Amino acid sequence: MAGRASQRVLLGCALLCAAALPCADSSRLSAAESPSQPTVAVTNFPIASAARLAGDGRQTRFILDLDQTVSFRAVTLADPYRVVVDVPQLNFQLPSGTGTGGRGLVKAFRYGLVMPGGSRIVFDLAGPAKIANSYVLEAANGQPARLVLELEEVDRAAFVQSLAPENRPELRPAVGEAPPAAVSTAATPEAVQQKADGRAVVVIDPGHGGIDNGTQSSGESEKNLVLAFGRALRDRLEKTGKYRVVMTRDDDTFIPLNDRVKVARSLKAALFVSIHADALPRAEGDAQGATIYTLSDKASDAEAERLADAENRADAIAGFNLAEEPTDVADILIDLTQRETRTFSNRFARLLMGEMKSTVRMHKHPLKSAGFRVLKAPDVPSVLVEIGYVSNKGDLEHLVSEGWRSRAVTSMAQAIDGFLAKRMATAGSSN
Ligand SMILES: [Zn+2]
Repeated sequence: MAGRASQRVLLGCALLCAAALPCADSSRLSAAESPSQPTVAVTNFPIASAARLAGDGRQTRFILDLDQTVSFRAVTLADPYRVVVDVPQLNFQLPSGTGTGGRGLVKAFRYGLVMPGGSRIVFDLAGPAKIANSYVLEAANGQPARLVLELEEVDRAAFVQSLAPENRPELRPAVGEAPPAAVSTAATPEAVQQKADGRAVVVIDPGHGGIDNGTQSSGESEKNLVLAFGRALRDRLEKTGKYRVVMTRDDDTFIPLNDRVKVARSLKAALFVSIHADALPRAEGDAQGATIYTLSDKASDAEAERLADAENRADAIAGFNLAEEPTDVADILIDLTQRETRTFSNRFARLLMGEMKSTVRMHKHPLKSAGFRVLKAPDVPSVLVEIGYVSNKGDLEHLVSEGWRSRAVTSMAQAIDGFLAKRMATAGSSN
């Protein structure tokens, strides 16, 4: 499908280039150059210095100024309508607020790292549109190198026809096929040995990352807050020496939701803890405190449902197709496992609340459930903790405070200790 996508891009370019020959040259040149450009190994990545939109609701053009040409791939995605442009890792030096306002066919766009060595720009469209043209221009006549994307309004039927029928697997970055970078160390002999020593594996999952900032307030991003929290929790757990602790991400990279679940499953983790920080839209008033979520088919209340919807959008925000991967969980045995797993997840959630409430301000209804995709491992007890609201002033003060974080991870580690000690004892006695 990559072939078809690029064919379409090339065809579009060829059409335009009939009218503007220099484009054909630069496009061919940049394509020919790309294999010799080691985009990953080089530490000074190409710099994107400005981005702008022009045009109207029928035709909209996006221009990105660069300090050198780059290779790229542009495709459209449906439901919601998006355009995704994959480029080698870029150093985005765009003014803050770039992309928050739209124009014409583009409602908004965002950009950032989607995997090591790979950046992405995701455009939210106002309606169905096609990529009429996309190309890279070399610097010329005092103008910097530019990546140009030309969108044209189409109706839904034409849009759907332009999509590949499959789930566009080529859109999944390498992390989709291989374990994420943070986890690849798990495959080293040393790591295997650690696993073989019988220690339980605890997976810590800091939400969002890379192109997906999560919730934001007062200049703080959820993705950074939960990464700092996850690292502190990992350090705290590792200090005990009792567990092998694995992070789904240990840097500012986006990890698709299914891959987070896969990490837990492939390591046969004893526990999966996803860390998030919520925000309430200003119109909905104020809320505060930590909430612990478990998986359920039906949300425990409207707020839990809203939150699960928001968290489940992470892949869409990062420009992934929303089609759920077929799961390998179909038979009744798995069903039974799943039921048992949910019992354990709920038990851990209650234990966690018991420990956290002595050190952390909790939400007035601290135990909730909803259909979080990241909690769907059928065989790994999983909880998602919203450690506070970035939209609440008091909570945000906590979230950025090292003292608060240290107290919070200590009580979390105690709950994990209590839960796993009991599970180990049960597993031991059943032998
Ligand atoms: Zn989140």
